[in-house]
Amino acid sequence: MLEVWGTYEDMDHRFFVDHPITSAQAILAGSEAHHLQHVLRGSVGDEVILLDGSGHEFVARVTRLARAHVELVVLESRLVDRELPREMVMGVALPKADRQRWLIEKLVELGVARVVPLRTQRSVVHPDQQSLVKLQRSVKEASKQCGRTRLLEVAEIVPLADYLQTTPASASKWIADPAGTSPASIPTGASSYYLAVGPEGGWADDELSLARAAGWHAVSLGARILRIETACLVLAALLGTIYHRGTEDTERASPRKDL
Ligand code: SAM
Repeated sequence: MLEVWGTYEDMDHRFFVDHPITSAQAILAGSEAHHLQHVLRGSVGDEVILLDGSGHEFVARVTRLARAHVELVVLESRLVDRELPREMVMGVALPKADRQRWLIEKLVELGVARVVPLRTQRSVVHPDQQSLVKLQRSVKEASKQCGRTRLLEVAEIVPLADYLQTTPASASKWIADPAGTSPASIPTGASSYYLAVGPEGGWADDELSLARAAGWHAVSLGARILRIETACLVLAALLGTIYHRGTEDTERASPRKDL
């Protein structure tokens, strides 16, 4: 029997369902059901938190343990908003596999709403459908750990030109380039942020020209060359937590107390 279900905050007590929860019945399937039944040895009567990526947490009680799924009754739902005040989208020429998972986990923690893998002239990694599915799994694990109730979306890979040229007119657009200007000189306060980080080999000159022509600010992140992951984290942290420090705490849900 699982013991500390009372606070509902422990990552081990949070489970993602594959379907939107719209009634009092919910089903946990696949690896999440396996984890509850066989790893945590859950029992009928245990209370857990269910997540469906909608921004809600659902308090639910286990009513039946079947061979391949777990049935639950939903007792209560609450809206928990831990998103950034402004949407942040990260376009990135992804690094290799194990570094991809680490990067996605950190971008979940930092509140990025969508990651768009970019096909650039010097990209060497082109994630296929299977790797994108694996990354979505990492999104769920990271969301449980940091208490996020909306899922970061990992989009399909797109050519850089499409990403640069299809951002909303109201967005602020920042492309990380060692030869760019200081972030302090770039205006903030837009409705959303679109960011771009290049491959290990860097951007080609015509890619940077295209970005400038499409209204992107080329921003330097210091005098040292950063790995792709570091550049992504610095940009996301800069815009998500430093420039908007304060609004998040006052307008949004309080941070988790158990971490
Ligand atoms: N030799 C490449 C160059 O000079 O651009 C290094 C590429 S770096 C490993 C990968 C990506 O991270 C770059 O394309 C850029 O988007 C970003 N990046 C790395 N260091 C940066 C810095 N100091 N300032 C801005 N962006 C940086």
